[in-house]
Amino acid sequence: MTLVYIGENSGFCFGVKRAIDKTLELAEKGKVKTLGYVIHNEQAVRRLKEKGVEIIENPEELDNNGAFTVIRTHGVKKDLLEKLKSSNINFFDATCPFVIRSQRIVEKFSDQGYGIIIFGDPKHPEVVGVVSYAKTENVFVVQKPEDVSNIPPIKKFLVVSQTTQKLDEFIEIVKKVIERGFEVRVFNTVCEVTVDAQKEAYEIAKLSDVVIVVGGKMSSNTDKLYKVCKGITESHKVETAEELESEWITNRNKIGVVAGTSTPDWIIKDVINKIKSIKSDKVEIVRVGQKNRYSAESILEEFGS
Ligand code: SF4
Repeated sequence: MTLVYIGENSGFCFGVKRAIDKTLELAEKGKVKTLGYVIHNEQAVRRLKEKGVEIIENPEELDNNGAFTVIRTHGVKKDLLEKLKSSNINFFDATCPFVIRSQRIVEKFSDQGYGIIIFGDPKHPEVVGVVSYAKTENVFVVQKPEDVSNIPPIKKFLVVSQTTQKLDEFIEIVKKVIERGFEVRVFNTVCEVTVDAQKEAYEIAKLSDVVIVVGGKMSSNTDKLYKVCKGITESHKVETAEELESEWITNRNKIGVVAGTSTPDWIIKDVINKIKSIKSDKVEIVRVGQKNRYSAESILEEFGS
């Protein structure tokens, strides 16, 4: 018998689900454009394209010729959002409420004279967007604790994280800032859904001989899950079932399947079906973890949108 462990919260989080559902709903009614990839999953984006959704990279291409524009889950720069609001372009802002929370915190505290430290990837669209909300030149993006020592001394600092970073790494960054003796305000802006997903990945990896991590190559949260799993047991990252190699699992009877928050259900199912087709014995699916309590409605109520 082969046991396949899979997390209760595998796949789309509420932020991604809301963006995809809305884009599909609008595409049923007419022409839809998304500004950049609405989520970081190539296959999900390809399905949207098949429904006629157009992806544009340059905001200059936005127009009001009957098209509806969807703003991606990672958000956009403040000036672009304001431009859209004051234009007659129809748009739906699918920025995840957790990202909106970071933008608001950075805006508020930079206005109060705090230097801003953001833990994240400076090129990631979410970070680019959050940086644009700072009302100060003193905004620094750090990727590792050592980067903190390059920041000039400023009287007071606010520290936040890109939503998909690992919480323990964020804590290390915060420690470094505190060691420098600044006045420090910290907001834990790591998305709670991704924290739950990382805990679930950890539990699954502990139970498994090998873990298959399923998610888009561009997906930051899938990368973090992979990091968690490979620290515990043999792990392989795949974007689709085709990439799963039979030699990884043939002699294993405890297989974990972990999926990022932007991984569509159908890809997770494909991976499980491929495992079933490779294994000659009976395969039993075992659910790990507990369904998290978040819904788009509850978060939107809390932070507004
Ligand atoms: S992973 Fe978290 S921050 Fe990102 S879209 Fe999902 S709920 Fe929002």
